[in-house]
Amino acid sequence: MEKNKSRIIMGANTAIQTYLRQYQALFGNELYVSKDQAKNLDQTPNTLDSGNRDDLEQFRISICLCQECPLGKTRTNFVFGVGDPNADLMLVGEAPGEQEDLKGEPFVGRAGKLLDDILRAIQKKRGQGVYIANVLKCRPPNNRDPLPSEVEKCEPYLVKQIEKIQPRLIVALGRVAGKTLLKMDVPLKEMREKTHDYHGTPLRVTYHPAALLRNSNFKKPTWDDFQWVRDFLNN
Ligand code: SF4
Repeated sequence: MEKNKSRIIMGANTAIQTYLRQYQALFGNELYVSKDQAKNLDQTPNTLDSGNRDDLEQFRISICLCQECPLGKTRTNFVFGVGDPNADLMLVGEAPGEQEDLKGEPFVGRAGKLLDDILRAIQKKRGQGVYIANVLKCRPPNNRDPLPSEVEKCEPYLVKQIEKIQPRLIVALGRVAGKTLLKMDVPLKEMREKTHDYHGTPLRVTYHPAALLRNSNFKKPTWDDFQWVRDFLNN
């Protein structure tokens, strides 16, 4: 494994300091990590801005080197999630794609920009009242659908994120995210326009923004879904 040698810098936030102190106690003043690990340790989400921040950050650090399933070996970056740690609205996709894997952030690129536009249309903003994550934290090769064995290992991380954030509403983006969370292998249209329960939190399912880029016919039903989301959150 290619190694980077990095001096421990004790100016990071409290959670990272704690993590590094544990390493220092074990291995001394020099920290040997892979490039993947170094990027994850340095990647301090700058959109976390409330009292829940440290708790969520501690959790991210505790799992960012996960190797529980084979995707840990093939990822470029672990993609934890991004946004407001006290968000009312949590958006959940299936897994990181190529751009997300490269950047370590969910929903970037054209689909991410479209998602930001949709949020703006309901007076929401990534990072302000909104948290975005995926069921899987690592990219499946060639963007294939998550395997049940991968979901089994990774979904508990999402459940714990939800417990910490306590959103009022979860919106699953796309059929794969919907069927994975709801354990329902049905077409997306059968999951839409219903309020489901996901570990005690209301959950709706709508189209993935990438699907809107491929087929503009999905724009109208998606807009209907997000109007419902807006009204739900405003009540
Ligand atoms: S996909 Fe999830 S379970 Fe698999 S290695 Fe990544 S974080 Fe761990």
